[in-house]
Amino acid sequence: MTNRYAKKNLASSFIATRNIHSGTIPDPYTGAILPPIYQTATYALDEIEQHKGYTYSRVSNPGVTMLENRLAGIEDALGAICFATGMAATTTLLLTFLSKDDHLICSDVVYGGTVRLIEQLLNKYGIHASFVDASDPNKVKQAIKKNTKLILIETPANPTLKLNNISKISKIAQEHKIPIAVDNTFLTASIQQPLRLGADIVLYSTTKYIDGHNATVGGALISNNSKMLEDFDFNRKTVGSIQSPFNAWLILQGVKTLDLRMKQHSENAIQVASFLENHKKVSQIFYPGLKSFPQYDLAQEQHMGGYHGGMLCFEVNGGMDKAIEVMNKVTLCTLAESLGSVETLITHPATMTHKPIEPSVRQKIGISDGLIRLSVGLEHYKDIINDLNQALK
Ligand SMILES: *Cc1c(COP(=O)(O)O)cnc(C)c1O
Repeated sequence: MTNRYAKKNLASSFIATRNIHSGTIPDPYTGAILPPIYQTATYALDEIEQHKGYTYSRVSNPGVTMLENRLAGIEDALGAICFATGMAATTTLLLTFLSKDDHLICSDVVYGGTVRLIEQLLNKYGIHASFVDASDPNKVKQAIKKNTKLILIETPANPTLKLNNISKISKIAQEHKIPIAVDNTFLTASIQQPLRLGADIVLYSTTKYIDGHNATVGGALISNNSKMLEDFDFNRKTVGSIQSPFNAWLILQGVKTLDLRMKQHSENAIQVASFLENHKKVSQIFYPGLKSFPQYDLAQEQHMGGYHGGMLCFEVNGGMDKAIEVMNKVTLCTLAESLGSVETLITHPATMTHKPIEPSVRQKIGISDGLIRLSVGLEHYKDIINDLNQALK
């Protein structure tokens, strides 16, 4: 069916437009501006081996395809594969490149679930990782072994915000013909575009900023490499980790405001970070947009538009006990796992998101027991500051 609106799929160069229009057109049958939810398990064949592109919803679903086309469009990439969760995306990524006796290089500060997947599951199958301080690209180079089959970095890292230089590490990966994936969950394509910086794969927990409303869990792998995309697709179908039609539909709506949200998250976060930096009870604060941030220069170079996202972390005088007091006293900020939504969320990595990491390792990589992670939401920043101020008293 010809449709004049199909033209808009020829992506605009502006992310704000692609957030809204990539991958969808008004419904060809009714004109409905939002696509229908294809809530179906299976699809009728016309004849043996003749179908309309869909056979079974573990393999693919029209709504999931629309979300994939949108996410690929936003990233200006060849394709995207969407998963039921971010961890399903990470699992598929690792299973695609690694088998028995293979080696993975992973940046040392990563989402706790990624560490758990490697150390408590994949290790059993003979897959081992070196967790490397990738803020120094030379350390990545030194960690490469004959059997290294994948490099996975997260930047900014969850929860300390440590940065890794994507261009430099991608160059090292290319020289050694090792694929490199970047977990871009904290910034999204509005602020950082790893594929343009030389990475092969972008990994997302769409649960966070891409959905943005705490409505769904989900994940995505995005790439310009058709063989990699085919393998991710095959492995997703094989293990059965596809996104559900309803969640895909919700994410397709949430992502429309991504660019707008990322800018406002960043503007709120710099206000909150500046407040915390000047508060006498705060001993340390990490936000890539602050001049005091140890990798401020790299943040300026790698992050786009002068924005640095909505995530920050800080420590208060008095360590763990005082930190717990603050987290128990906030009322506007919600004490919860997760991040990247319109609601401000406050998290204690040591007992929540990063609990799977060995306490001594946690200390070594800067996740102290008193560290507080804040996902600055889209409430008025003065309300967020007032709430933190009363909790710090
Ligand atoms: C949350 C998160 C994940 C895991 O995603 P889920 O959707 O919770 O499975 C992976 N990486 C980062 C950086 C995250 O914050």
